Amino acid sequence: MTDLESIFTNLSTAATKEDRDLITRAYECAKTAHKDHMRRSGEPYLTHLVAVAKTLAEIGMGPKTIAAGLLHDTIEDTDVTPEEIKEQFGDEVLFLVEGVTKLGSVRYHGVDRHNESLRKLFVATSQEIRVLMVKLADRLHNMQTLEYVPKEKQKRIAQETLEIYVPVAHRLGMGRFRKELEDLAFPYVYPEEYAHVKQVAGGHLKHALETLEKLRKTLQKKLAEAGIKDFKTSSRVKGMYSLFRKLEQRDWDIDKIYDLLAIRVVVPTVEDCYHIFGIVHELWRPLPHRVKDYIAFPEPNGYQSLHTTVIAQDRTILEVQIRTEDMHKNAEFGVASHLVYKQTQSGDKSALAQYRAWAGSLIPSLFYSSFWRWSRKPVSGSAEKNKESIPQWIQEIAAAHQESANTERFVTDLRQDFFSQRIFIFTPEGDVVDLPVGATPIDFAYAIHTDIGDHIAGAKVNNKLVHIDTALRNGDIVEIITRPSSRPTAKWLSFTKTALARRRIRIALGEIAEKKA
Ligand code: MN
Repeated sequence: MTDLESIFTNLSTAATKEDRDLITRAYECAKTAHKDHMRRSGEPYLTHLVAVAKTLAEIGMGPKTIAAGLLHDTIEDTDVTPEEIKEQFGDEVLFLVEGVTKLGSVRYHGVDRHNESLRKLFVATSQEIRVLMVKLADRLHNMQTLEYVPKEKQKRIAQETLEIYVPVAHRLGMGRFRKELEDLAFPYVYPEEYAHVKQVAGGHLKHALETLEKLRKTLQKKLAEAGIKDFKTSSRVKGMYSLFRKLEQRDWDIDKIYDLLAIRVVVPTVEDCYHIFGIVHELWRPLPHRVKDYIAFPEPNGYQSLHTTVIAQDRTILEVQIRTEDMHKNAEFGVASHLVYKQTQSGDKSALAQYRAWAGSLIPSLFYSSFWRWSRKPVSGSAEKNKESIPQWIQEIAAAHQESANTERFVTDLRQDFFSQRIFIFTPEGDVVDLPVGATPIDFAYAIHTDIGDHIAGAKVNNKLVHIDTALRNGDIVEIITRPSSRPTAKWLSFTKTALARRRIRIALGEIAEKKA
């Protein structure tokens, strides 16, 4: 198969001749521009660009993103100029390539750089989520070929992957990226722990694939006997890194890990899911308290599925996961599965509605503090924020867009729905708070903690002193200066954009009483 064929086989069936032409031209341009470059593996540089483009096609990205994938290293590493890209491929492709190029200079060196990387990643993502998709695909191939990188650099790159890209992929619900990236990074970042996991799990994993295959066939037969016609089954062994994290929580006792082996059943409808759930419990005895209904109660990143742990033949314990095709795509590709390229000119309301439902379920957890569990320090007062349900602004946007279900605007809608109404503001420690456009340091202070809001005396934005009514900008680093004697005034109400800050100011002014929790 030629390079281009390998990209096209993964392309959406809706792709037109123009789409293929665009990708072909980008391929030819990349081929010429990088003709003298080699990867460290000794392969032509082009193999890297094709790998990135293939991944992007596989996760359902459109032709412009795929073209940007092919061109993502041109501006930085070749003679190709931004003007040429603009002329040949248009503004959008140029915007994407430049977005990736800017992110390219992010390097991980200690905590400060770590925070800087996160900040850049978020600012870039908030402008265009497709930039992040290219960056993730780029990182995936760099991790797949990490063995060729000089030893002293391997650990740094792997660590950056584990600490930055993995959590981002996870929060965007991109399960496949997450798993692959963390398993590729694991042996480089924690070589001793990796060896330990292999040793502890070795015996259990030895016949795992055979056992799983046997059990999968048993289940398949049972489902067919029950008259279920439309279903797909697959099996998986838990990734080494996620096994490591679980072993740490379970005193390194492999017998306490119940989802080492799993069988997945994918069916057309939600009713089918519950039906099959019953059949599974008839076939194999479920373990008590191990039934999880993530369909009725989705995980914070939008993950949906039914899980149950059962004891099968030979006392093998395994997890059975049951979900619909949509849920499955969502689990594998998350946000990308909602960006799926559509060529139809007539609007596709269901896709848009589906996206909104998904975005609605995702956003509170994505941008509130749970996202930062893994960052150095939790934002204080986070419990307060977690209590808030789906933000008002999402509901407003959803209502406003009800009429304009034009699929041509799908990506634009995503960008706007998702990000353009919000700005991401960072604490000096690198924690992020999302606020509405036009928010001021007062809003920021109250978002962090009531006490900080109540005593705000000034603020530093990007290290410069500003007045507390200054409108913040996306990506600003804000430090709040407090003074015990400082108290809210009625004037503050006109300097705020968030309901939370207004309510807190009113309480401090004695206008309204504080609700007892
Ligand atoms: Mn690259």
